[in-house]
Amino acid sequence: MRIILSIIICFIFSKNILSQRKCGSIEKMNKYLSKNVKQKINRDIIENKILEEDISINTQSMNIPVVFHVLYNTPTQNISDAQIESQLVVMNNDFNRTNLDAFQVPSNFNSIVASMQINFCLAKRTPDNNPSTGIIRKNTNISSFSLYDTSIHYSSLGGSDAWDTKRYLNIWITNIDSGVLGWAQFPDAGSKYTDGIVIDYRHFGTIGTAVAPYNLGRTTTHELGHYFNLFHLWGDNYCGNDLVNDTPEQEEANYGCKIHPSVSCNNNGDMFMNFMDYTDDACMNSFTIGQRNRVWSSINNYRSDLINQIGCDQIINTFSDASIEILYPIDLIDGCSNPIYPEVKIKNNSTDNLYTATIKYKVNSSNYKYQYWNGNLSPQQSTTILLSGIPISGNSHIINAEIIAPNNTTDINTSDNTDVKLFETSTGTSININLITDNYAEENSWILFDENNNIIDSNDSLVNNKHYIYNYCLKDACYKLVVNDTEGDGFCCDYGNGSLSVNKELDNIELALLTTFSFTDTIEFCVTALTNKENERILNSIIPNPSNGIISIKNNNFKNSIPILAEVFSIEGKLISSETSLTKTFNFRYLKNGIYLIKFKQNENVIFNKLVINK
Ligand SMILES: [Zn+2]
Repeated sequence: MRIILSIIICFIFSKNILSQRKCGSIEKMNKYLSKNVKQKINRDIIENKILEEDISINTQSMNIPVVFHVLYNTPTQNISDAQIESQLVVMNNDFNRTNLDAFQVPSNFNSIVASMQINFCLAKRTPDNNPSTGIIRKNTNISSFSLYDTSIHYSSLGGSDAWDTKRYLNIWITNIDSGVLGWAQFPDAGSKYTDGIVIDYRHFGTIGTAVAPYNLGRTTTHELGHYFNLFHLWGDNYCGNDLVNDTPEQEEANYGCKIHPSVSCNNNGDMFMNFMDYTDDACMNSFTIGQRNRVWSSINNYRSDLINQIGCDQIINTFSDASIEILYPIDLIDGCSNPIYPEVKIKNNSTDNLYTATIKYKVNSSNYKYQYWNGNLSPQQSTTILLSGIPISGNSHIINAEIIAPNNTTDINTSDNTDVKLFETSTGTSININLITDNYAEENSWILFDENNNIIDSNDSLVNNKHYIYNYCLKDACYKLVVNDTEGDGFCCDYGNGSLSVNKELDNIELALLTTFSFTDTIEFCVTALTNKENERILNSIIPNPSNGIISIKNNNFKNSIPILAEVFSIEGKLISSETSLTKTFNFRYLKNGIYLIKFKQNENVIFNKLVINK
């Protein structure tokens, strides 16, 4: 009897595990961002922007090329093309509200349900423009992959390398352990090599290895929601927030199938049929207008390169010959010019008309950007194209542009397909000042001074608990940012979590950070682009240089017996240390080998020097 009882208990227990939907996306993102603070700050900035803009009009047709990576350890896991096709059908139906169960949404949600208007296609060409089926199959000797194991994304580790994750949606299908059905990488919440979604082969598509109750392809729909930045309806908290206005607040995840109205958190019924809940595949059928707007806005801010890609276009064979010339930027460019928006001229050199081409371009050592062009150029005709912005740093630059895949085919004459130009930007590095206020922002004010103590900007009418982002184009020099609190309790951490940071816009390099202070504090930071050209301009007033750390100032404006203040900055402009000396000699032996910037100040005399430590 006891044995029978334990078999029954065991059966119930294992059945429960099978019927619990479990998605790893939020956990994985939180873990990643807790270790990558700069990326978290960057995401927070874009998240604020998304919450404010809430795009409600879609101006582009979205056709996203998808590459499926089937990673199998056993023959069963090597799912059929038909099963993959069945999943693609579900994706297209669910994202265009053409799913047959859409009508099952309770009538009081009729006014908020919406179509995402996003299409997915099997990639018809590789990133290098070779024909493709959009399906990669790989045998792996790894029997199962787990949530925090990234080896699935690397061929060298038994996984499968992603195709350029900016231009393709990558979906991996494999055997996932620990009962996780799948996971997605939220936008900008992980490496570009791991971006995409991972789905267990038993919960993918609608035929073959798909097992009820997750056998209708909705695990992929749900994970795609996360991939486009949607959260779970309960915000992963008790009556939490999913950052979408029209979805009802709900207490927690719903499992199985529910009957409407299923009330929680004083709502008129949970929207348990939403794809972002945890119900069974057969019981979910809708996204909302608010979710759609958040997705559009997120694509616009994070994943815009996925749209208008040629990945969905078949390669057609014609004889094509196109050429490219960079028109802008060349020579000397004024102002911050960051990012820079290049302009190119493309020309049709073949005897057939030119209808499509892709421009591949980069500045300095940035990653390549790709821009798709379509139009109609007669033989020998040319046109000008304005390209999307690309960030730059420093003063001297090199821009590369290449025209590829004219008429979706290979160019018969590649000698005129590339152009390279040099250009210089004269002034300015784009700097962001991030200020987060506390519950008593009226007590706070700030003033930004240049190195001659002239006021650049200030603000003494701040709003509580707001994230301010101020942008300045600053020339190479040192700056002072004075922060005041009339009550002497700063902005952290008794009445809120305020902070102030100064960041280079490019790469978001942090130059300074202030969290706690009392009545007043001064942040000092230096801006430098530090190219070779810039270094030459800095007068060498330090001997010896390079040095083992013991140095002397050889500038005659500086006197002995009057204190000299020396401030040491990293080449990114971050203050490392400051020292005072009554002689013109300083000991910097504690510095590691490398390049530093040193500011010496004695009364009104200020010099700014580069120092190379080589012990
Ligand atoms: Zn989820």
